[in-house]
Amino acid sequence: MNHSCMLGCKPPTPDLKVPTNEALTLPPQERSRSGTIRGMSERVIPLVDQRHPSLPLPAHVVGQNLNALPRDGLRRPLTDLRISVTDRCNFRCNYCMPKEIFDKDYAYLPHSHLLSFEEITRLASVFVGRGVRKIRLTGGEPLLRKNIEILIAQLAALRSPDGQPLDLTLTTNGSLLARKAQSLKDAGLQRVTVSLDGLDDTVFRKMNDVDFPVADVLAGIEAARAAGLGPIKVNMVVKRGTNEHEILPMARHFRGTGIVLRFIEYMDVGATNGWCMDEVLPSADVIRLLQTELPLVALSPSASGETAERWGYANDQGQHDRALGEIGVISSVTHAFCGDCNRARLSTEGRLYLCLFASQGYDLRQLLRDPAQSDAAIAATLDAIWQGRTDQYSLLRSLRAPDTASGPGRRVEMSYIGG
Ligand code: SAM
Ligand code: SF4
Ligand code: SF4
Repeated sequence: MNHSCMLGCKPPTPDLKVPTNEALTLPPQERSRSGTIRGMSERVIPLVDQRHPSLPLPAHVVGQNLNALPRDGLRRPLTDLRISVTDRCNFRCNYCMPKEIFDKDYAYLPHSHLLSFEEITRLASVFVGRGVRKIRLTGGEPLLRKNIEILIAQLAALRSPDGQPLDLTLTTNGSLLARKAQSLKDAGLQRVTVSLDGLDDTVFRKMNDVDFPVADVLAGIEAARAAGLGPIKVNMVVKRGTNEHEILPMARHFRGTGIVLRFIEYMDVGATNGWCMDEVLPSADVIRLLQTELPLVALSPSASGETAERWGYANDQGQHDRALGEIGVISSVTHAFCGDCNRARLSTEGRLYLCLFASQGYDLRQLLRDPAQSDAAIAATLDAIWQGRTDQYSLLRSLRAPDTASGPGRRVEMSYIGG
């Protein structure tokens, strides 16, 4: 992992405080499992965020009126729930699960800590009652969760209070998609987003860091298309100095296919990837590069709270040519979109995080496993949690110096709460 930075940013980890002595007081054999990189024994990395104590659940008023849907402290509704179904992955993308840390000794969650499919579905149904209309399964690699089709079928059966099915989707690295696309579709999944950071096999193998070939992911995308899991989106994380030369080949490859390619700025999420601003290629530069060969026109957002800024491929008259399709840029670093952020994230073990950059979540599993908690009581607690939300990490970070990474605190890993 390259931690050096031309702007002189420090890797985020040493700046972070371990808030309790938990990692330090563990016996030596446990210490590497909880975060000391072997061979760098002086450096304790607070990476097992799920051990961080959860936030106290807010009190709610018994018999509270659940008619009005909750708005958070910045008047944002809750419409989008991302559910992480596993913290494990078969890739080691160095911007997400660097090999040096997520090694064979890494302490993943034991199975008993995971929410069962029935618990996830119950909670999802409560969320749907409080305004959620879109559910995205994520991870880790969600297709590694055994019998994921059963969960998908349960979630696909949920209906909004006015009887509408949910927008049910899943983000995957695509490695198992060729095998699973049809069974996912049959179970009721509507569409998929596939992560793919380049077409050059050498670059891709290096970025996934497990030598996984690009051809197999492309076959997965093809299988998803054949199974009708569209519209398909492809996410490409762009790291300056690593894969920016893949931007044009990726655009050429997916242009005119109906697949929407989205370029994501490399984010300072988590505490282990050694994020540095000089490895971020701003979306504005991506657009500029694309325009040198493939003219684009700006499109309006298709939905409120959309993370991607949309651009359409233009025809000779400078108008959007629908047959050529569109791309998106997700500018989490250079152009924060907290203002209408309507997303909550549920971790594999049932903690609710109100922001991708949060360091603590609310333990909903204890509510689910408490026989005294009715669905209405859980709904009232959700409302109280959401109403107390004021998160706008990216926006606040953008007000700081551009080459500074994280603020204080230890943030959860993306592989734990999902992208
Ligand atoms: N394993 C699945 C996958 O890769 O699609 C789902 C989980 S992954 C955490 C979800 C998304 O987060 C992926 O598209 C991935 O590229 C993106 N991601 C992970 N770390 C990131 C980072 N540091 N900056 C930007 N995007 C990141
Ligand atoms: Fe795995 Fe997805 Fe993270 Fe890559 S981005 S390591 S595929 S969870
Ligand atoms: Fe939402 Fe937090 Fe991302 Fe802002 S930083 S868009 S509040 S998840």
